[in-house]
Amino acid sequence: MKAIVLFGPPGSGKGTQAKLLRDCLQVPHISTGDMLRERVRSGAENGSPVAAKLQSGALVRDELVNRLVAERISQPDAAQGFILDGYPRTIAQAEYLGGLLEPRGLQQVVVYLSVNYNIIIVRLCARRQCPVCGTLYNMVSQAPKVDEVCDLDGHALMIREDDREDVIRDRLAAYDEQSMPVLDYFRSAGHQVQEVTADDLPPEEIARKICGILENNAVKADDRTQNRR
Ligand code: ADP
Repeated sequence: MKAIVLFGPPGSGKGTQAKLLRDCLQVPHISTGDMLRERVRSGAENGSPVAAKLQSGALVRDELVNRLVAERISQPDAAQGFILDGYPRTIAQAEYLGGLLEPRGLQQVVVYLSVNYNIIIVRLCARRQCPVCGTLYNMVSQAPKVDEVCDLDGHALMIREDDREDVIRDRLAAYDEQSMPVLDYFRSAGHQVQEVTADDLPPEEIARKICGILENNAVKADDRTQNRR
């Protein structure tokens, strides 16, 4: 039973990896970005600053994301563990998460996807997403079979409003300032941080590396439990 925290800059492939890992580990993928976009789409955030924050790449306030995560992980399908994508992103969120997981006895494993920022900018400018099923494409490396159309359901693909180059740079600056310190926080709180350099590898290969790390980690955790007996 584990909480896998996928950590890394915007565009490092957290969403893609989370989907691949969800299929192999059979635990839910919890993306705060997806939850926030869904709230905006459904009208739940009418009149609030959340939509503007999403468009500008600024972080949404901690209280809201913390509440969304607390509600989501208390659902029955998350009892055996889950994959967090895009959360925690501030030290306050990391502290809050620690408080949620400790009483449940869930161990946090942080997988840090590190990618060169120049690669990220090129990648995000080419990103497309199906507005209906959420499948991600990349016009350079993972193009759909028919130009700009989702392979799975035929809907026209969309460019996220925050995938414009100026907004991408702002998102990376927000990450450097507010999220990078979270890595040191994880280490000082005694959580394992496993770094995976994800510059130019195909997603399946990165997922294999992550699965290897997680398996290794499970074996070591078993050893530790047996040694205590
Ligand atoms: P990316 O990781 O590529 O930036 P996400 O879909 O994870 O994409 O996030 C999109 C936007 O949603 C962020 O720029 C931010 O505005 C908001 N958001 C997502 N997760 C959080 C979070 N944990 N705390 C605050 N804001 C968040």
